[in-house]
Amino acid sequence: MRLLRSTDLALRVLMRLATVAEDANPTTREVAEAIAVPYTHTTKVVAELQRRGLVDARRGRGGGLSLTEAGRTASVGAVVRAFEGDGEVVDCEGGDTPCPVLPACRLRGALRQAQEAFFASLDPLTVSDMVTTPAGPLLLTLAPPPART
Ligand code: SF4
Repeated sequence: MRLLRSTDLALRVLMRLATVAEDANPTTREVAEAIAVPYTHTTKVVAELQRRGLVDARRGRGGGLSLTEAGRTASVGAVVRAFEGDGEVVDCEGGDTPCPVLPACRLRGALRQAQEAFFASLDPLTVSDMVTTPAGPLLLTLAPPPART
């Protein structure tokens, strides 16, 4: 199963924010540079993370991004579910030409179960778990800490 790019970006943003100092509050651009993602993609993902209460974004001088407590303790499985949505791994309806096996297919249900098992395997892991050594120290080396005056 391949994740949507936005799902991976959301997890990268959360991991980056989980490693910076709590008072660092990097900007979206600084986070985008650190995780090697285009700024425009990052802004969309950050907006969705903010909407879900996982990231706090403050504007203006001294503002920036920070992880909320809900973001720090968020289950990786929940984040993946949220960004992947309800879509199935195979498009049985296929637009104008639905699969002819559809009325009697047993594979579809099996694939749905496999998809849920995939998500469930990520449920016990939290964002904080993802930044323990060696990932956390490496994430900190990706870009210099934001310099503020
Ligand atoms: S064989 Fe089954 S799972 Fe595959 S596209 Fe057809 S209905 Fe869907």
